[in-house]
Amino acid sequence: MADEKPITLEAAVQQVIAELDGPTPVAEIVQRVLAIHPSAAKHPEQSVRNQLIRHWRKAWVYLDAKTVTPLRVVMKGVRFRIVLSRLEIKHGALFFETNFRGFARLMADPASFTLLDAASQPLPASPTTIKLERKSPLGDYSYEVAAWDVAPWFKSLKARDGDSLLVTVEDWEAGRYRLEYEPAGRRRFDEVDRVNRELADLLFAALEEAHSESVSGFEAIPVAYARMADPRGYPGDPWMKVVERDSRMKLFGDDIRYPESYAPIESLMGREKVQPKALPVSSGQGQQVYRFKAALKYRAGLWRRIDIQGQQTLEDLDGVLRGEFKHDFSDHLSGFWLKQRRGNTKRFREVEIATVQPFGGGDGAEKHIAGLGLAVGDDLKYVYDFGDWIEHTITLEVIAEPEAGVAYPRVVAKNKPQYQDCERCRAQGRQTRAIWVCHHCSSEQGRAVVLCEDCLVAEHEDHYADEIVY
Ligand SMILES: [Zn+2]
Ligand SMILES: [Zn+2]
Repeated sequence: MADEKPITLEAAVQQVIAELDGPTPVAEIVQRVLAIHPSAAKHPEQSVRNQLIRHWRKAWVYLDAKTVTPLRVVMKGVRFRIVLSRLEIKHGALFFETNFRGFARLMADPASFTLLDAASQPLPASPTTIKLERKSPLGDYSYEVAAWDVAPWFKSLKARDGDSLLVTVEDWEAGRYRLEYEPAGRRRFDEVDRVNRELADLLFAALEEAHSESVSGFEAIPVAYARMADPRGYPGDPWMKVVERDSRMKLFGDDIRYPESYAPIESLMGREKVQPKALPVSSGQGQQVYRFKAALKYRAGLWRRIDIQGQQTLEDLDGVLRGEFKHDFSDHLSGFWLKQRRGNTKRFREVEIATVQPFGGGDGAEKHIAGLGLAVGDDLKYVYDFGDWIEHTITLEVIAEPEAGVAYPRVVAKNKPQYQDCERCRAQGRQTRAIWVCHHCSSEQGRAVVLCEDCLVAEHEDHYADEIVY
């Protein structure tokens, strides 16, 4: 008789995952692993969790923070749509990418797949590669894609581009898929639209819940299908199309991201940064008064309450902020971001809405306050000088009707000032309010040197100084 070797942790985790038949709490999986792989380690749970994570997205996905579900089970019987392209019809081939993306095992070899027809009979579909040409600004190039040669099948169907294959995942692990042909004219548009909307909402929810501001399609797709009302029913459009058409999201490789997300490579790809579209402003909304409280982020005791009308712009607001917080009008850019809550989470994303040039101008000049779609309680981030990065938080407190005879924008309240005295005057026995901080002397003496106007002119004329904000 052979010796019975104790099972490794790796094998124990694989065995437990293989036995899962549906959504399962992580804590339960950990206990089941420890039952067949007892451990004397100090923190046995943690080593199981570490091992478990290695199979994430390969064998299972998180349904929520505490529950996982095996992909083999989620994917069983799921239906998705392939819309045949002109190139596929031309080559008599079915491409692996991007048709099966999200519905096949990670790193799966398409040559090992079994494709069945509607009657569950194996299709004459031999694995092949197709060479495609692509034009690019950096020169034309060719590349090869994995595909199945299905020319006789397409021919017998009289398949054309725009026709669909409705695919059922018969066995996700083994790579068995059943393909039903649907000519474009038989597409049930209402149902496709409904499923597209449901899928879009589920994928957006997955993005909102993701810890980073990005979620991989390989993770989002199974989670969305696990939550879908009828994942085995009539399929909507390919998920990548659904994401691309939804203004709340964008696709970057396999990842679903927010539309404003922007990687440096995207500028090389010729993509432009996306900013939220301005909403139309009615004359009534244009008249309304938005009351903001603006405070320095790292000196929250320094704040101003500012009234500004809906028809006025972020450039107008920037002017008030520069004046009140004593920022220069001629030297630096400033910028506004909208802080948007991500779903029901406590996390926010920052959406760039405008920059304002020194001396005014920039896209902030075109962004009306009422067109930003702000609600009471919303926060903006305002940064003056992208070098020194002086950050302010701006909270919308009230939206109200304008008062007769008032000129907007206006400052309606400010923090109680903590005035400082001019140190030169004090040394001479006088008490005078300091207006300037001399940076030159401050850095030399390692403390804030504050002065009145006369003393600055008298002894610090060539020094670099800033007005003190009270
Ligand atoms: Zn003085
Ligand atoms: Zn000085």
